[in-house]
Amino acid sequence: MNASYEPIRIVNWQAAILLWFQNKADILEEHSYQVRSAMESFPLPAVLRLKRYVKPWANGEARFSRDNVFLRDDYICQYCYKPFPTSQLTLDHVLPYSRGGKKNWTNIVTACKCCNHKKANKTPREAGMPLLKEPVPLNQRASQPINKRNKDQLPDIWKPYIFI
Ligand SMILES: [Zn+2]
Repeated sequence: MNASYEPIRIVNWQAAILLWFQNKADILEEHSYQVRSAMESFPLPAVLRLKRYVKPWANGEARFSRDNVFLRDDYICQYCYKPFPTSQLTLDHVLPYSRGGKKNWTNIVTACKCCNHKKANKTPREAGMPLLKEPVPLNQRASQPINKRNKDQLPDIWKPYIFI
């Protein structure tokens, strides 16, 4: 949810954990099951509220920015398919900048530092590093909006927060 308590987006659990770890969101509800890492285990967040208000996107398309690229890619490196904290993530030009690659939604993807270094000045095909998914602009339609149609499929724990 936005800081205004307005439901805005469904994110996967890795993105939810990262928003919390990075102190960008408060956890309002937790699932009864736990996530385990090597060192500890903690409850999986079910409802998060952003600490800072995010402006709704004009024309359904989000502003092109580093944070929005990470959000579109669910904080997952598009070359090794693993989630990372933002401090470990970089923006990678799919077609390298030195070869005319543009800085836009369809040529910039999330990459961990290691993969970015490994891919270097190559295309994904040349580097033998296929992209997890085709990069497209982040828009509200693609981000699984919470609406009446899918209301019945939503977890019960979300329902008190959804005013539809
Ligand atoms: Zn990677």
